[in-house]
Amino acid sequence: MDKFKEKMNEIDQMSEENKTITLNQMKSDCICPICPTYNECAKEVDELLFCVTGKSESCITKERGCMCPTCPFAQEYGIGVKYNFYCTRGTELEQR
Ligand code: SF4
Ligand code: SF4
Repeated sequence: MDKFKEKMNEIDQMSEENKTITLNQMKSDCICPICPTYNECAKEVDELLFCVTGKSESCITKERGCMCPTCPFAQEYGIGVKYNFYCTRGTELEQR
């Protein structure tokens, strides 16, 4: 199993409280806010970490380039190159 899938399994098994803490830590590493595709609407509702949580609910609809391949989190977990644009196309696992 690859490192990303392992991390997702680990998160799945956490209590809701630990899951929230872990996701918030991961969100702080997400570089979506500096991406041209990211927008004010997504910022206002604090949407981040689309690779893990899935598509933007209703804020992001237009793709204007994706910074995921340069994201430190993506590089650590070996994602973001083959699949990206997680905000419009769904999570890493959904796209595989
Ligand atoms: S891979 Fe993309 S969506 Fe995932 S944390 Fe990095 S910038 Fe955010
Ligand atoms: S998932 Fe990719 S395209 Fe979407 S905002 Fe994040 S870096 Fe940009």
